[in-house]
Amino acid sequence: MKNLIYSFFLLSSSYVFSSTYIYTSSYIDVVDLKIIKNSTIVVDDKLISSIDRGFIKVPDGSELIDLRGHTLMPGLMDMHVHFGQEYLSKSERPAKVERETSAILATQHALKTLKAGFTTVRQVGDRGMVAISLRDAINSGQLTGPSIFTSGKSIATTGGHADPTNGLASGDYSYPTAEDGVINGPYDAYAAVRQRYKDGADGIKLTVTGGVLSVAKSGDNPQFTEEEVVSVVKAAKDYGMWVAVHAHGAEGMKRAVIAGVNSVEHGTFMTEEVMDLMIKNGTYYVPTISAGEFVAEKAKIDNYFPDIVRPKAASVGPQIAATFAKAYKRGVKIAFGTDAGVQAHGTNWREFVYMSENGMPPIETIKAATIETAKLLSIDLTHGSITVGKVADLVAVKGNPLDDMYLMQNISFVMKGGENVFSD
Ligand SMILES: [Zn+2]
Repeated sequence: MKNLIYSFFLLSSSYVFSSTYIYTSSYIDVVDLKIIKNSTIVVDDKLISSIDRGFIKVPDGSELIDLRGHTLMPGLMDMHVHFGQEYLSKSERPAKVERETSAILATQHALKTLKAGFTTVRQVGDRGMVAISLRDAINSGQLTGPSIFTSGKSIATTGGHADPTNGLASGDYSYPTAEDGVINGPYDAYAAVRQRYKDGADGIKLTVTGGVLSVAKSGDNPQFTEEEVVSVVKAAKDYGMWVAVHAHGAEGMKRAVIAGVNSVEHGTFMTEEVMDLMIKNGTYYVPTISAGEFVAEKAKIDNYFPDIVRPKAASVGPQIAATFAKAYKRGVKIAFGTDAGVQAHGTNWREFVYMSENGMPPIETIKAATIETAKLLSIDLTHGSITVGKVADLVAVKGNPLDDMYLMQNISFVMKGGENVFSD
């Protein structure tokens, strides 16, 4: 890439002309689902200021980035990550982990994710204030990473998925409160949401059914009453926060979709009834096929998971891809999300391969990771497509990934907010 970039500086002037010209032989229009050939995209400061047909002359003092031979697309977005963690098998797990470890690792994971082409992520679930602190450090320019939207710590019910004291001896913990993210009853729901608002979270993550990796027996039972989930949604709406729900079983999903949540994560045992409710309510499905494939693969290894987790991992894993295929075909809105942090960060590209293998045309997988995710985050007026006036979050891949989705692992260029942050 070094040879592809030509910079011209006005050495004698104190005025720095900040336009960047990008030559692209093909870019993906994720709104009209087509490839646009041979264009020049001009970036002024943070924004796309013009898009012209052909390769227009670059004025003196402006920078040219020549991406001919690459495919340019809007910055990718992953709606389900957990910076600060990656699942380790029983034998790989250190005997003790300091709470600061997660924060330190998160900075690395964020950088890896940005270099993988993801300029925006949503972190749904956290051990503490890691994603909130990281978001602020990135937004203020102290660290390099994707823009983060986060729920802070997930909200669970006692013994449910994301109760942080699951698996501990009863004498070894004090009872977690609503502020800690464990609620019982509608009143607690308000206390928990308000605490997250105070913490500075952008939205709410609820674990409305059991989970695969939690140290508990059921992976799919409902874990919130109708009243509890309705209260969370009402409280979240008062504060302008979105609600994302972790759900494997259909009953928990149904209660959440009826209550008006914004997205269902994993959705493993989603029934046609739930799909139709989601279509009716405009609820997004964030499939996380990558996590399903990862846990199913690891469940084959003896002692990788605790005994209580292994059967859940084996059955839930393969089901997610099948559910995605059905939901897509039926017309449920899909937003790209991987659950990176179960599997390794930076491998988010695999989700494009899994989605296309399960019936979604390649160009629609890119749409699901750009304009659809922007809509889910309510940032589609400023992000999510290559459009004049929008923020210049742009990524490129050498060759044409629509012919071979595996090319998505070779991101050659990342621009975030008009700044060239990575080129290979
Ligand atoms: Zn997750």
